[in-house]
Amino acid sequence: MVKENILKILSTVPSNVRLIAVSKTKPVEMLQEAYDAGQRLFGENKALEMRDKHAVLPTDIEWHFIGHLQTNKVKYIAPFVSLIHSIDSLQLLSAVEKEGKKNGRVIDCLLQFHIASEETKFGLDIDEARHLLESEEFKSMCNVRICGVMGMATNTDNMDKVRSEFANLKNIFTLLKNDYFKGQDCFREISMGMSHDYRIAIEEGATLVRVGSSIFGARNYA
Ligand SMILES: *Cc1c(COP(=O)(O)O)cnc(C)c1O
Repeated sequence: MVKENILKILSTVPSNVRLIAVSKTKPVEMLQEAYDAGQRLFGENKALEMRDKHAVLPTDIEWHFIGHLQTNKVKYIAPFVSLIHSIDSLQLLSAVEKEGKKNGRVIDCLLQFHIASEETKFGLDIDEARHLLESEEFKSMCNVRICGVMGMATNTDNMDKVRSEFANLKNIFTLLKNDYFKGQDCFREISMGMSHDYRIAIEEGATLVRVGSSIFGARNYA
C-alpha cells in the first residue's frame, strides 16, 4: 500500500524535486515500509516524536522538521535533523544556532512564510524576513545555514488561489536570493505543496514537496 502510493507519487515528481514523506502520527512500521520502498526523506512536526523515530529507524534517513518548533524543543532534534523548514523568528533561529554549536554542526534551515489567508498558520512576512537577515545577531551566526523558504497554501478547493499563493512564495524566494544570497548555491530550496496541491506547487517551482496522507493514509488525531 505505502510502497504503491510512493511509486505512484514519484511518477508525477520530476527528478529535480525531492519528495518528503510526511509521517507524523504514523507508526515506525509504516515508515519502515516506505524506507523499504526506497524513500529516504521523512517529515515530522513534533520534536519528541521525531527523536523517538530517529532512534529506531535506519541512520541514512534524512529527517525534515516541518512543524511549529518551540525553542525549548530544539535540543531533541539538533543532533541529527537534516533541515528545519519552520524558522519563523530570530529567537527560534538563535536557539537552533545555540544547539548547532553544542552539537558541533551547522544546521540547515528554511524561513517559513505566511502565504495563506488563514490567520492560524505560522510564518514571516517579507519585511520580517529582511529584518532577521539584516540583524547583527543573524550575521554573527556560524552554526545555522539558511537554504531557502517554506510555505503552506490556504486549505481550499480554489486551486487558482493556491497557485497564486505558491507563486507568491516563489517570488519571495527570488527577492531574497537576489538581495541576500546571490551566488550562494546553498540557498536553493522552495518547500511547498502537500497531498492535495503538490502538483501545482511543482508547476510553480517547488524543490521539496511534503506529502503525508496520500502516502500513509488519513491521520487519526483522536
Ligand atoms: C501534515 C503536513 C503536511 C502533509 O499534509 P498532507 O495533506 O497529509 O499531505 C505537509 N506540510 C506540513 C507543514 C504539514 O504539517
